[in-house]
Amino acid sequence: MDYKKELKNFFGENCLLDESMGSHTTYRTGGPAEAYVYPSSPEEWSFVLKLSETYHIPLHIIGFGSNVLVGSKGLQGIVCSTKRMATISRDGEHIKAQAGAALDKVCEVACRAGLAGMEKLSGIPGSVGGAVYMNAGAFGQETFDTLEYFDVIDRQGRPATLLKEDLKYTYRHVEDIENYIVLSASFKLTPADFPQLMETRNSILHKRIEKQPLDYPSAGSVFKRPANDYASRLIDDTGLRGLSVGGAKVSEKHAGFIINFNHATPEDIRELMRQVRQKVKEKHGVELELEQILWGQFE
Ligand SMILES: Cc1cc2nc3c(=O)[nH]c(=O)nc-3n(C[C@H](O)[C@H](O)[C@H](O)COP(=O)(O)OP(=O)(O)OC[C@H]3O[C@@H](n4cnc5c(N)ncnc54)[C@H](O)[C@@H]3O)c2cc1C
Repeated sequence: MDYKKELKNFFGENCLLDESMGSHTTYRTGGPAEAYVYPSSPEEWSFVLKLSETYHIPLHIIGFGSNVLVGSKGLQGIVCSTKRMATISRDGEHIKAQAGAALDKVCEVACRAGLAGMEKLSGIPGSVGGAVYMNAGAFGQETFDTLEYFDVIDRQGRPATLLKEDLKYTYRHVEDIENYIVLSASFKLTPADFPQLMETRNSILHKRIEKQPLDYPSAGSVFKRPANDYASRLIDDTGLRGLSVGGAKVSEKHAGFIINFNHATPEDIRELMRQVRQKVKEKHGVELELEQILWGQFE
C-alpha cells in the first residue's frame, strides 16, 4: 500500500497530504511536504517511525517553523509537527515542558512563578523542541543555561533521557542532536524577585517590537554571530540594508533579518542570503555562517 494512504488511515485529520510548508513556517513561503502529521502519543510516534524505516521515507521534525526555509520544489517524505504536545508543568524550581510548547510561554510561566534564568529568552517565537535543538538564545541567555535534561526518542523509536552534561553544546549548536526527536525538556531555575523578572521580560518584549521587523514574515537572524562582531553590523556596514531579490529584502529596520515583504519565493530568499554572504566576504573578509536551516529542493 502507498505509505501516504497508511498514514492517512492511521492519523485521520492529523495527517495532511501535499501540504504547503508556507503555512507552517514563519517565512510564509515554501513548497509542499508529501505528508504532514501531528504525532503526540508514543503509539503515534512509533507508527510514523516504523513506516519511515520500512519504506525508507525521509522524516523531518518541525516545531514552529521559525528557523527553517523550505525550497519551492518541496520536501520528500513526512514532516512531523510537535504542535499537539504542548503541556507545561511546574514543580518548585523545575519547569517541564513538552517539545511543542511555546518557549515564550515557558518564559512567562517562569517569570510569573518568580523563577529566573529564562526571562531574556522572552519573545523567541519557537517551540521548546526547536529551542533545545538550536540552543536558542538572546540577550546573553541561552536555552542550555537552565536546561537540566530532556527526553528523546531516537529514529528507531528507542526512548532515552539526555542530561545537559552528556552533550557538547556551543552558541546555537548542539552536537549530534539531529539523531534524536526531543519530546520534552526540563529546566531548573533560580528563585528571584517577581516584579524585577516581569520588568526584564516586558522590556525585552518591547525591545523586540522596537528593533525587529515583526510586521513582516521572517525567520529571525539569518546568520550566526561571527567572533567578536555582529552579522547585522557587518551587513549594515557593507551597505546592504534594503537590498532585495524578488519579494525578499534585507530588513531596513534590522539588517540581520531577511523579510518576505512581497510574496517572496524560497529561491528569492536563498539568493539574497547568497548575495549578502558574498558581499560581506568581499568587503570584510568574514564568512557569515547560516543560522537558518534550508530544507527540501530549491528551483
Ligand atoms: C522574529 C523572530 C525572532 C527570533 N529571535 C530569535 C532569537 O532571539 N534567538 C534565537 O536563538 N532564535 C531566534 N529566532 C529563530 C527561532 O525562533 C529559534 O531558532 C527557535 O528556537 C526555533 O524553534 P522552532 O520550534 O521554530 O524550530 P523549527 O524552525 O521548527 O526547527 C528548527 C530545527 O529544530 C529541529 N526541531 C524542532 N523541534 C524539534 C524536536 N522536537 N526534536 C528534534 N528536532 C527538532 C528541526 O528539525 C529543525 O532542524 C527568531 C525567529 C523569528 C521569526
